[in-house]
Amino acid sequence: MEPPERPARGAFAPWDDPAATPLVVFDGVTKRFGAETAVAELSLAVHAREFFALLGPSGCGKSTLMRMLAGFETPSEGRVLLAGQDLAGVPPHLRPVNMMFQSYALFPHMSVEKNVAFGLAMEGRPRDEIGARVGEALRMVKLDGLAGRKPHQLSGGQRQRVALARALVKQPKVLLLDEPLGALDRKLLQERLGLTFIIVTHDQDEAMTMATRIAVMDKGRIAQVGTPPVIYEAPASRYVAGFIGEINLVEGMVSAVEGRRVTVATAVGDLAVSEAAETVAVGQAVAVAWRPEKTRIVRAGEAISNGRAVISGTVHDVGYLGGRTTYHVDASGLRLKAAVANAARSVERPLGAGDKVKLAVTPDALILLVR
Ligand code: ATP
Repeated sequence: MEPPERPARGAFAPWDDPAATPLVVFDGVTKRFGAETAVAELSLAVHAREFFALLGPSGCGKSTLMRMLAGFETPSEGRVLLAGQDLAGVPPHLRPVNMMFQSYALFPHMSVEKNVAFGLAMEGRPRDEIGARVGEALRMVKLDGLAGRKPHQLSGGQRQRVALARALVKQPKVLLLDEPLGALDRKLLQERLGLTFIIVTHDQDEAMTMATRIAVMDKGRIAQVGTPPVIYEAPASRYVAGFIGEINLVEGMVSAVEGRRVTVATAVGDLAVSEAAETVAVGQAVAVAWRPEKTRIVRAGEAISNGRAVISGTVHDVGYLGGRTTYHVDASGLRLKAAVANAARSVERPLGAGDKVKLAVTPDALILLVR
């Protein structure tokens, strides 16, 4: 059987195309609330049909950014553009943007159908058109059998889908989701409606699996924007490296530079980064980071093939996670992690707390961090 046809890997990447015009642009946007700066000189471009995820700790400005796009807040400085149009002065209901809140409120006394139809009825649309559009929206969220129910007769997930249908029926260009919906079939929605999503999420796995790109925010600024693999494999700073997934991060000082190969003296010995993304000078304070799953762990006596950084330590504890096991290893006062895929079926753990071990990392797995 022929495999199903798939778009070429990386085919959708308008952000790499200098000729592509972004749909949403934040251009040097600052938002102050009194003395507090919620968003600081932030510039960001989102392209049509992206599923763009905003990630960052509580209070970093994610909601404020979305509220400025939806029109519920006005920038203190800078511009927000949609399809090239400056949105300043355009009220929320005239923006082709729909914001779904965590605390979406359905009308309790109205049926599912009436809840979804409400916005179109307010616009004074003809009954036939409302009926057709509501029917289509309910089909898209797979609620077409429940049109006559009241919200209290629905599950939590079904209520979310009613709120989604209510947003979809208005055919927004951009749908803003404050915490996305488990029920969301993003491929279906994007292919059928050509929608662009901007989501706020606290769920890293969700951002990794769903997003076209992720923006990691820090105190009102963008720390990094990139595809999920770029954010994970090539973080631009200690902050981003530590924010997404687990990481080993060791501070040190540059001791040698030969092209892109940079050697860093650290508490756990010299670490030679083979593919340094940043230009550094001998004597500069930097950090070296690597992911636990790129770390080999063996007993202290075992041989390690040449060319790897080798760190001696003692197992502190072992976390068994089914698919993988994470070893926490104490080495020169640092606690490092090695995650090993449990490829063989075994109920025995080969290593335990107190065991002397060696950690080994290949130079291309090491990330040099300056910021
Ligand atoms: P969370 O993940 O907790 O929802 P967030 O990243 O969405 O956080 P925002 O809601 O954008 O953060 O808030 C950013 C900062 O601006 C916070 O310090 C917040 O206290 C402040 N802020 C937001 N709205 C207002 C307001 N209306 N008045 C004063 N300060 C505000």
